[in-house]
Amino acid sequence: MKSHTHYLWFTTKQRQEIIDITEQVAEQVRESGVAEGLALVSAMHITASVFVNDHESGLWADILKWLETTIAPWDAKRYRHNETGEDNAAAHLRSLTIGHEVLVPITAGKLDLGPWQRVFYGEWDGQRKKPDPEHRLIIALSRLEPPAIERPGRHGNALASRDSEV
Ligand code: ZN
Repeated sequence: MKSHTHYLWFTTKQRQEIIDITEQVAEQVRESGVAEGLALVSAMHITASVFVNDHESGLWADILKWLETTIAPWDAKRYRHNETGEDNAAAHLRSLTIGHEVLVPITAGKLDLGPWQRVFYGEWDGQRKKPDPEHRLIIALSRLEPPAIERPGRHGNALASRDSEV
């Protein structure tokens, strides 16, 4: 299996921030030489997310407001986790809600996203004074192995139409 791994680091300007990383992911697809496969994009932090959605600033404001008002308000006294001396329980819950990874198909050497889909990094607890204040993301690309099964013909099953490209 051909594979390629790349790490990205972020230092956000604000504690909560949404960053469009589609171009960085696409660049790694080009660098990898993977023509048919999958790009796993995964946040390497417990208070961050990776997600696919629309590049629209009003929507980003809506997402941040939704997380604050409906999912997990930043109210330190509300959470057991914060009894440890932390104040970021809300960020953990936001990470769980949005998710920490996405899997994007690669077709003909390119990210196979829908017309409005972009890949985003969501930082829910940035600007922390920690030994390693920069938050990390992994992009791992893998080529799909050609299916080992014998197939009846070009249109014999769902995979058959890809025969010429494998
Ligand atoms: Zn915590």
